[in-house]
Amino acid sequence: MNAQRQDTMMPVDVTTVGPGNGHPVVQPPVLGGPENTDYYLLNDLLTDEQQALRQKVRDFMDHEVTPIINPYWERAEFPHELVPKLAQLGIAGFQIPGYGSPGMSNVTAGVVIMELARGDLSMSTFMGVHSALAMMSIALLGSEEQKERFLPQMARLEKIGAFGLTEPAHGTDVVKLETTAHRDGDSYVLNGHKRWIGNATFADYVIIWARGDDGHVGGYVVEKGSPGFEAEVITGKTALRCVQNAQISLTDVRVPAQNRLANVNTFRDTEKVLLASRFCVAWEAIGAAIAGYETALAYAKQRKQFGVPLAAFQLVQYRLARMLADITDMVCMQYRLSQLMDEGKYSMPRVALAKMHYTERASAILSDARDMLGGNGILLDYHVARHLCDIEAIDTYEGTDTVQALIVGRDITGYNAFVPMAPNGHH
Ligand SMILES: Cc1cc2nc3c(=O)[nH]c(=O)nc-3n(C[C@H](O)[C@H](O)[C@H](O)COP(=O)(O)OP(=O)(O)OC[C@H]3O[C@@H](n4cnc5c(N)ncnc54)[C@H](O)[C@@H]3O)c2cc1C
Repeated sequence: MNAQRQDTMMPVDVTTVGPGNGHPVVQPPVLGGPENTDYYLLNDLLTDEQQALRQKVRDFMDHEVTPIINPYWERAEFPHELVPKLAQLGIAGFQIPGYGSPGMSNVTAGVVIMELARGDLSMSTFMGVHSALAMMSIALLGSEEQKERFLPQMARLEKIGAFGLTEPAHGTDVVKLETTAHRDGDSYVLNGHKRWIGNATFADYVIIWARGDDGHVGGYVVEKGSPGFEAEVITGKTALRCVQNAQISLTDVRVPAQNRLANVNTFRDTEKVLLASRFCVAWEAIGAAIAGYETALAYAKQRKQFGVPLAAFQLVQYRLARMLADITDMVCMQYRLSQLMDEGKYSMPRVALAKMHYTERASAILSDARDMLGGNGILLDYHVARHLCDIEAIDTYEGTDTVQALIVGRDITGYNAFVPMAPNGHH
């Protein structure tokens, strides 16, 4: 009889047995506290207020979101019931000062986003699209009147925002977007198509980026119910299934002139929003990585094979130690980047380096974590499977891994490798 067979005949430790799926399994582990993961005590660098807010968001995710999110994910539905509860956290708008938003520092916003993502990437994406893309577009590029008109209701999550930049034919090269905005009297008339637009099926305000009569890109706030605006949900997604991503058709959609974001002159202005938002996405990747590590650690302490917890095996400890090293590396790096953002010393390459590095590490950590849960790793009950699927979309949106590398590469070498030249010098 081999060792494995002998082990299956040992008495089962009832403290590790739960009723999941009708079979005895290790209970889905409760994620650990910061004491497990914050190895270099970065939490000590946060003020009491920041720590309290972090805990508040973590508690919300652990108690209100984690217990209910899996069936929504499985049905590919958005959990609208959570929106009023999210509103009570008072975090919508993240770093935006005034207009009902909390005006967080970049470190505070980052820690909040990290905690949202640790709990669930669909919910952090919902908040990211609403706050860091839609609200931030208005805050950075709107007139005073537009900020007063749109932001306070969005900060209370009474009105939800979406950000329509990507088109079916233009993702990475979105600077070439084809949607048009033609001035006609007191309105702009929008025509074109958008793809992948999160929240767009139910959003009250969708910021549509379109090319004006002068050929330059502008931002237009399209309000819910505008005739000619159609948003059809994209089905069959294997990532971020709760997020409602839409294919949008714009057919002679009339937008009042006062809804054109006042301070957008070219695509360079759009990029200001993308920089701020990409920084938030980098924090999301860290949150997902932490979820993977904490789940793997908790599971390894409970699950026994060969008569001992998985955590006692050297190879398991090696994997956990590597995960912790990656997380500590990312958090330290991102804390410094957040300080640079607060000091105004930011640049797209600096943010791109972070987004590239963290999403790659988070994917690796979640893949390892899933494996360390054995068969249970593919069950939604244990949460790692959901994070592992979802991180695929985090890798893609706001620019893929490759694209972030090209941004950094251009900065450090001086060569633009985005658009290859044919030998005859043509594209
Ligand atoms: C879940 C999800 C949510 C999203 N939410 C939104 C949203 O709310 N609003 C919005 O506007 N957009 C949104 N997007 C769109 C997202 O930003 C794009 O999907 C992304 O920019 C990539 O564009 P693409 O999918 O068209 O891929 P493509 O641009 O077609 O890229 C395909 C592949 O080619 C590679 N590639 C492209 N160009 C180069 C190059 N020059 N050199 C080397 N490799 C290259 C890419 O890295 C990628 O691997 C979302 C996407 C997803 C998946």
